[in-house]
Amino acid sequence: MGRMVLRICHLYPELMNIYGDRGNIIALKRRCEWRGIEAEISLLSLEDKPDPRLYDLFFIGGGQDREQEMVCHDLQKVKGEALREAHAAGACFLAICGGYQLLGHYFRTWKGEVLPGIGIFDAWTVGGETRFIGNVVAEWEDGGGRRTLVGFENHSGRTRLGPHSRPLARVKVGHGNNGEDGWEGCRCGNAFGTYLHGSLLPKNPWLADEIIRLALSRRYGEVELEHLDDSLEERAHAAAVRRAAGKRGG
Ligand code: GLN
Repeated sequence: MGRMVLRICHLYPELMNIYGDRGNIIALKRRCEWRGIEAEISLLSLEDKPDPRLYDLFFIGGGQDREQEMVCHDLQKVKGEALREAHAAGACFLAICGGYQLLGHYFRTWKGEVLPGIGIFDAWTVGGETRFIGNVVAEWEDGGGRRTLVGFENHSGRTRLGPHSRPLARVKVGHGNNGEDGWEGCRCGNAFGTYLHGSLLPKNPWLADEIIRLALSRRYGEVELEHLDDSLEERAHAAAVRRAAGKRGG
Protein backbone atom coordinates (compact mmCIF):
# COMPACT_ATOMS: atom_id res chain seq x y z
CA MET A 1 0.00 0.00 0.00
CA GLY A 2 1.27 3.53 -0.79
CA ARG A 3 1.54 6.29 1.72
CA MET A 4 -1.67 6.73 3.71
CA VAL A 5 -3.32 10.13 3.79
CA LEU A 6 -5.61 11.35 6.59
CA ARG A 7 -7.98 13.98 5.27
CA ILE A 8 -9.03 16.33 8.05
CA CYS A 9 -11.66 19.03 7.76
CA HIS A 10 -11.21 21.74 10.40
CA LEU A 11 -14.57 23.50 10.75
CA TYR A 12 -14.78 27.23 11.59
CA PRO A 13 -11.15 27.50 12.80
CA GLU A 14 -11.31 31.26 13.42
CA LEU A 15 -14.69 31.20 15.19
CA MET A 16 -14.53 28.03 17.24
CA ASN A 17 -11.22 27.92 19.11
CA ILE A 18 -10.97 28.28 22.89
CA TYR A 19 -8.16 27.30 25.28
CA GLY A 20 -5.96 26.00 22.50
CA ASP A 21 -8.49 23.74 20.77
CA ARG A 22 -6.46 24.19 17.60
CA GLY A 23 -3.71 22.20 19.34
CA ASN A 24 -5.81 19.10 18.65
CA ILE A 25 -5.21 19.55 14.93
CA ILE A 26 -1.47 19.96 15.50
CA ALA A 27 -1.39 16.79 17.63
CA LEU A 28 -3.28 14.80 14.98
CA LYS A 29 -0.97 16.04 12.23
CA ARG A 30 2.22 15.31 14.18
CA ARG A 31 1.14 11.87 15.28
CA CYS A 32 0.39 11.02 11.65
CA GLU A 33 3.65 12.44 10.34
CA TRP A 34 5.75 10.64 12.96
CA ARG A 35 4.38 7.45 11.43
CA GLY A 36 4.86 8.45 7.81
CA ILE A 37 1.14 9.15 7.32
CA GLU A 38 0.31 12.35 5.48
CA ALA A 39 -2.22 14.64 7.18
CA GLU A 40 -4.06 16.96 4.82
CA ILE A 41 -5.93 19.74 6.59
CA SER A 42 -8.68 21.79 4.97
CA LEU A 43 -10.07 24.84 6.74
CA LEU A 44 -13.78 25.38 6.15
CA SER A 45 -15.61 28.39 7.49
CA LEU A 46 -18.91 30.19 7.01
CA GLU A 47 -20.46 29.52 3.58
CA ASP A 48 -18.01 26.72 2.62
CA LYS A 49 -19.80 23.49 1.77
CA PRO A 50 -17.92 20.27 2.62
CA ASP A 51 -17.82 17.33 0.24
CA PRO A 52 -19.02 14.50 2.56
CA ARG A 53 -16.94 11.86 0.71
CA LEU A 54 -13.67 13.75 0.78
CA TYR A 55 -12.89 13.92 4.51
CA ASP A 56 -12.32 11.13 7.02
CA LEU A 57 -12.15 13.34 10.11
CA PHE A 58 -14.05 16.50 11.00
CA PHE A 59 -12.94 18.71 13.87
CA ILE A 60 -14.83 21.57 15.53
CA GLY A 61 -13.62 23.44 18.62
CA GLY A 62 -15.41 25.36 21.34
CA GLY A 63 -16.95 28.82 21.10
CA GLN A 64 -18.80 31.45 23.05
CA ASP A 65 -22.57 31.74 22.67
CA ARG A 66 -22.15 34.62 20.17
CA GLU A 67 -19.90 32.66 17.83
CA GLN A 68 -22.10 29.62 18.28
CA GLU A 69 -25.03 31.62 16.95
CA MET A 70 -23.24 32.41 13.67
CA VAL A 71 -22.04 28.84 13.34
CA CYS A 72 -25.51 27.50 14.12
CA HIS A 73 -27.02 29.41 11.17
CA ASP A 74 -24.30 28.17 8.84
CA LEU A 75 -24.71 24.57 10.01
CA GLN A 76 -28.45 24.77 9.37
CA LYS A 77 -28.15 26.47 5.98
CA VAL A 78 -24.89 25.25 4.47
CA LYS A 79 -23.12 22.31 6.11
CA GLY A 80 -25.56 20.26 8.22
CA GLU A 81 -26.74 17.86 5.54
CA ALA A 82 -23.25 17.07 4.25
CA LEU A 83 -21.95 16.51 7.78
CA ARG A 84 -24.81 14.16 8.64
CA GLU A 85 -24.16 12.27 5.41
CA ALA A 86 -20.44 11.96 6.22
CA HIS A 87 -21.23 10.73 9.74
CA ALA A 88 -23.70 8.14 8.44
CA ALA A 89 -21.00 6.93 6.02
CA GLY A 90 -18.57 6.36 8.92
CA ALA A 91 -16.47 9.53 8.99
CA CYS A 92 -14.95 10.39 12.33
CA PHE A 93 -15.80 13.57 14.26
CA LEU A 94 -14.19 15.28 17.23
CA ALA A 95 -16.28 18.11 18.64
CA ILE A 96 -15.27 20.17 21.67
CA CYS A 97 -17.60 22.03 24.03
CA GLY A 98 -19.50 24.64 21.96
CA GLY A 99 -18.96 22.47 18.87
CA TYR A 100 -20.20 19.39 20.74
CA GLN A 101 -23.34 21.30 21.74
CA LEU A 102 -24.11 22.34 18.13
CA LEU A 103 -23.69 18.81 16.83
CA GLY A 104 -26.44 17.66 19.21
CA HIS A 105 -30.17 18.37 18.80
CA TYR A 106 -30.13 21.89 20.24
CA PHE A 107 -28.45 24.29 22.66
CA ARG A 108 -30.74 26.53 24.69
CA THR A 109 -28.54 29.32 26.02
CA TRP A 110 -28.87 30.60 29.58
CA LYS A 111 -30.73 33.59 28.09
CA GLY A 112 -33.34 31.22 26.67
CA GLU A 113 -32.39 31.46 22.99
CA VAL A 114 -32.62 28.13 21.20
CA LEU A 115 -29.84 27.27 18.75
CA PRO A 116 -30.85 24.20 16.75
CA GLY A 117 -28.15 21.58 16.22
CA ILE A 118 -27.62 19.07 13.44
CA GLY A 119 -28.37 15.92 15.42
CA ILE A 120 -25.16 13.98 14.89
CA PHE A 121 -25.15 13.37 18.63
CA ASP A 122 -28.33 12.17 20.31
CA ALA A 123 -27.86 14.86 22.97
CA TRP A 124 -29.26 18.26 23.92
CA THR A 125 -27.92 21.12 26.01
CA VAL A 126 -29.51 23.72 28.25
CA GLY A 127 -27.51 26.65 29.60
CA GLY A 128 -27.50 27.22 33.34
CA GLU A 129 -26.89 30.38 35.34
CA THR A 130 -23.59 29.15 36.74
CA ARG A 131 -20.62 27.94 34.75
CA PHE A 132 -18.67 24.75 35.23
CA ILE A 133 -15.04 25.82 35.26
CA GLY A 134 -11.96 23.81 36.16
CA ASN A 135 -9.78 20.78 35.55
CA VAL A 136 -11.40 17.49 34.69
CA VAL A 137 -10.25 13.91 35.06
CA ALA A 138 -12.48 11.24 33.61
CA GLU A 139 -12.19 7.52 33.00
CA TRP A 140 -12.55 6.71 29.32
CA GLU A 141 -15.25 4.07 28.84
CA ASP A 142 -13.66 2.48 25.75
CA GLY A 143 -10.26 2.47 27.40
CA GLY A 144 -11.38 -0.52 29.50
CA GLY A 145 -11.06 1.54 32.68
CA ARG A 146 -7.30 1.76 32.14
CA ARG A 147 -7.17 5.15 30.50
CA THR A 148 -8.02 8.49 31.95
CA LEU A 149 -8.78 11.62 29.98
CA VAL A 150 -7.72 15.01 31.30
CA GLY A 151 -8.72 18.51 30.25
CA PHE A 152 -10.15 21.83 31.26
CA GLU A 153 -13.86 22.70 31.15
CA ASN A 154 -15.63 26.05 31.05
CA HIS A 155 -19.29 25.94 30.06
CA SER A 156 -22.73 27.01 31.14
CA GLY A 157 -24.40 24.29 29.07
CA ARG A 158 -25.70 21.12 30.70
CA THR A 159 -25.80 18.28 28.21
CA ARG A 160 -28.03 15.21 28.45
CA LEU A 161 -27.64 12.12 26.31
CA GLY A 162 -30.45 10.29 24.52
CA PRO A 163 -30.62 6.51 24.05
CA HIS A 164 -28.63 6.54 20.78
CA SER A 165 -25.56 8.08 22.40
CA ARG A 166 -23.20 6.52 24.83
CA PRO A 167 -21.10 8.48 27.28
CA LEU A 168 -17.45 8.93 26.45
CA ALA A 169 -16.10 8.86 29.99
CA ARG A 170 -17.00 8.77 33.68
CA VAL A 171 -16.10 11.91 35.63
CA LYS A 172 -13.62 11.51 38.48
CA VAL A 173 -12.88 15.21 39.04
CA GLY A 174 -14.94 18.08 37.62
CA HIS A 175 -18.46 18.33 36.20
CA GLY A 176 -18.53 16.90 32.67
CA ASN A 177 -21.79 16.89 30.72
CA ASN A 178 -24.09 18.29 33.39
CA GLY A 179 -22.58 17.96 36.87
CA GLU A 180 -25.27 15.46 37.87
CA ASP A 181 -25.17 12.10 36.14
CA GLY A 182 -21.39 11.63 36.31
CA TRP A 183 -20.83 11.41 32.55
CA GLU A 184 -18.43 13.34 30.38
CA GLY A 185 -18.77 13.59 26.62
CA CYS A 186 -20.55 11.43 24.14
CA ARG A 187 -19.92 8.83 21.48
CA CYS A 188 -22.29 8.30 18.55
CA GLY A 189 -20.95 6.03 15.82
CA ASN A 190 -17.51 7.43 15.04
CA ALA A 191 -18.32 10.86 16.47
CA PHE A 192 -16.74 11.96 19.75
CA GLY A 193 -18.06 14.95 21.68
CA THR A 194 -16.45 16.31 24.83
CA TYR A 195 -16.22 19.33 27.09
CA LEU A 196 -12.47 18.96 27.44
CA HIS A 197 -10.26 21.77 26.22
CA GLY A 198 -6.67 22.12 27.03
CA SER A 199 -6.01 21.12 24.32
CA LEU A 200 -7.34 17.61 24.64
CA LEU A 201 -5.30 15.38 22.34
CA PRO A 202 -1.68 16.31 23.19
CA LYS A 203 -2.29 15.23 26.80
CA ASN A 204 -4.45 12.23 25.93
CA PRO A 205 -2.48 10.55 23.13
CA TRP A 206 -4.46 7.29 23.39
CA LEU A 207 -7.60 9.15 22.37
CA ALA A 208 -5.73 10.87 19.54
CA ASP A 209 -4.61 7.49 18.22
CA GLU A 210 -8.05 5.94 18.50
CA ILE A 211 -9.45 8.80 16.43
CA ILE A 212 -6.66 8.53 13.83
CA ARG A 213 -7.14 4.76 13.62
CA LEU A 214 -10.92 5.01 13.16
CA ALA A 215 -10.62 7.81 10.62
CA LEU A 216 -8.04 5.95 8.52
CA SER A 217 -9.95 2.67 8.63
CA ARG A 218 -12.77 4.19 6.63
CA ARG A 219 -10.50 4.44 3.59
CA TYR A 220 -7.86 1.81 4.28
CA GLY A 221 -9.62 -0.96 6.26
CA GLU A 222 -8.24 -2.13 9.62
CA VAL A 223 -5.14 -0.08 10.36
CA GLU A 224 -2.58 -0.82 13.02
CA LEU A 225 -0.74 2.29 14.13
CA GLU A 226 2.97 2.18 14.79
CA HIS A 227 3.80 2.61 18.48
CA LEU A 228 5.21 6.03 19.44
CA ASP A 229 7.33 7.05 22.40
CA ASP A 230 4.76 8.98 24.45
CA SER A 231 6.83 9.48 27.59
CA LEU A 232 6.56 13.26 27.35
CA GLU A 233 2.80 13.14 26.71
CA GLU A 234 2.37 10.72 29.60
CA ARG A 235 4.23 13.06 31.93
CA ALA A 236 1.98 15.95 30.85
CA HIS A 237 -1.05 13.74 31.44
CA ALA A 238 0.14 12.64 34.88
CA ALA A 239 0.86 16.26 35.86
CA ALA A 240 -2.69 17.24 34.86
CA VAL A 241 -4.13 14.37 36.93
CA ARG A 242 -2.05 15.41 39.94
CA ARG A 243 -3.07 19.04 39.60
CA ALA A 244 -6.76 18.15 39.36
CA ALA A 245 -6.56 15.75 42.31
CA GLY A 246 -4.74 18.37 44.40
CA LYS A 247 -7.45 20.86 43.77
CA ARG A 248 -10.11 18.37 44.78
CA GLY A 249 -8.24 17.64 48.02
CA GLY A 250 -7.70 21.30 48.84
N1 GLN B 1 -21.01 28.77 25.06
C1 GLN B 1 -21.06 27.42 25.51
C2 GLN B 1 -21.33 27.26 27.02
O1 GLN B 1 -21.04 28.16 27.76
C3 GLN B 1 -19.76 26.69 25.14
C4 GLN B 1 -18.53 27.28 25.80
C5 GLN B 1 -17.26 26.67 25.30
O2 GLN B 1 -17.13 26.19 24.18
N2 GLN B 1 -16.23 26.75 26.14
O3 GLN B 1 -21.84 26.24 27.41
